[in-house]
Amino acid sequence: MKVILFGPPGVGKGTQGLWLQERYGWPVLSTGDMLRGAVEEGTELGLRVKPLMDGGQLVSDEIVLGIIEERLGREDCRDGFVLDGFPRSVGQAEGLERILEAGGGSGGSDCLIVLEAGEEVLKGRIRFRSEETGGARSDDTDEVMRERLEVYARHTLPVLDFYEKRGTDIKRVECGGSVESIAEEICTWLDKKKGVG
Ligand code: AMP
Repeated sequence: MKVILFGPPGVGKGTQGLWLQERYGWPVLSTGDMLRGAVEEGTELGLRVKPLMDGGQLVSDEIVLGIIEERLGREDCRDGFVLDGFPRSVGQAEGLERILEAGGGSGGSDCLIVLEAGEEVLKGRIRFRSEETGGARSDDTDEVMRERLEVYARHTLPVLDFYEKRGTDIKRVECGGSVESIAEEICTWLDKKKGVG
C-alpha cells in the first residue's frame, strides 16, 4: 500500500511511521531525514538546503521530487511505502502522482492519513523533543517552529484539497492521546482498507 502520512510539524508522523513500518514492513521515506543526512554528510545538496531548513522554509519541489523519485525506484518500495513529510506542496503532490503513474505499478497513492493536533500541543511536543535530544535539530526552536507552522498552513494544507478532489481515501486521526492508541486507530483503519482492497 502507498500511504502518505500527513500533518503539521510535531504531530508525530515519524513515530507513527515507525509503527507502520514494524507492523506492515513498508519502508518509511522521510524527506526531512534524507535532507538532514545530506546536511550531515556536507554534500553539495546539504550545503544548499541547510539555510532553508534552519529557517523552517521549504526546500524546492525540484530537489525534493528528485530525491523521492530515486528512492521510490528502489526494490524495497515495490510492495508499498509510507511517506513522511512529503508531499508538502501541491507541486510535490502532482509530481508524486506523475512519478507513481509512470512507474507502471498500480497507479497513484492509496491513502492519506491526516494526523491532527492543536497548535499548543504541537509547540509543546517540539519543545519536548528539543529537550530530549539536547537540541539536536536546529529547527526545533520556538521561533523556527512558528515559521514552520505558517509554512504548513500556506503551502502544505492545500495538498489536502488536492487529494480530496482526486477522491483519494483520507483518514483523519486526532493525535491528543497516547502513541499506542493513535497507532491502533490507524492500523484498524488500514487493516480494513487492506481487506477491502
Ligand atoms: P521534517 O523533518 O519533515 O520536519 O523536515 C525538516 C525540514 O526539511 C523542513 O522544515 C524543510 O526545510 C525540509 N523538508 C523536509 N521535507 C520537505 C519537503 N517535502 N519539501 C520541502 N522541504 C522539506
